[in-house]
Amino acid sequence: MATKTLVVIGAVAAGTSAAAKAKRTNPNLDVILLERDRHISYGACGLPYLIAGLIPGTDALIARTPAEFGERGVEVRTEHEVLEIDTANTALRVADLAAAQEYSLRYDDLVIATGAVCSTGSMFSKAPDIAMIFLLFAAMGFVGLFTSLFFHK
Ligand SMILES: Cc1cc2nc3c(=O)[nH]c(=O)nc-3n(C[C@H](O)[C@H](O)[C@H](O)COP(=O)(O)OP(=O)(O)OC[C@H]3O[C@@H](n4cnc5c(N)ncnc54)[C@H](O)[C@@H]3O)c2cc1C
Repeated sequence: MATKTLVVIGAVAAGTSAAAKAKRTNPNLDVILLERDRHISYGACGLPYLIAGLIPGTDALIARTPAEFGERGVEVRTEHEVLEIDTANTALRVADLAAAQEYSLRYDDLVIATGAVCSTGSMFSKAPDIAMIFLLFAAMGFVGLFTSLFFHK
C-alpha cells in the first residue's frame, strides 16, 4: 500500500502538536511540516519575559528543533511558505524562501495551523489618554521579534 502524506502548514503550537500526534498514531505516515519562519516550536508566551530580560535568549523559548522532529520521523521545512492550496489536485504551491524557488507538493491530508492575528478595531478610539499600544508578536526569523507601534496622539 502506498504511503500517505500528511502536510502540516505552520509549525508553532498547533502545527507541531498535530504533526507529532499524527506520527505517533501512524508511524507509517509521511509527515511534512512547512513553516515560513526560521524557527519552530517555540513558546510565544515567553516573549514578554525575554523582553524584560528575565530569560537569557530566544533558545530558552524553543521546545523542539527541526532536527529533533527529524529524529522522530517528521520532516520539517523551515522558510517554506505555502502560497496556494489546490484542493482539486490535492497539491500546494510552496515557496522555498531561502532558495527563491517555488515547487508543488502533493498531500493526502492537510492540517492548516497558520495561527491568527489580533485585531484591535476601533477599541481604542475613545481612549486618547493611551499614548501608544504595543502589539507583540513573533515574526520572520524570530530573532527579529518586533513590536508594532500604534500612536494615538
Ligand atoms: C506575546 C505573547 C504572549 C502569549 N502568552 C500566552 C500565555 O500566557 N498563555 C497562552 O495560553 N497563550 C499565550 N500566547 C498565545 C500562544 O502563543 C498562541 O496561542 C500560540 O502560539 C498559537 O499557536 P498556533 O500554532 O495556533 O499559531 P502561531 O503560533 O501563530 O503559529 C502559526 C505559524 O504558522 C506560520 N504560517 C502562517 N502562514 C503560513 C504559510 N502560508 N506558510 C507557512 N507557514 C505559515 C507562521 O509563520 C507561524 O509560525 C501568547 C502569544 C504571544 C504572541
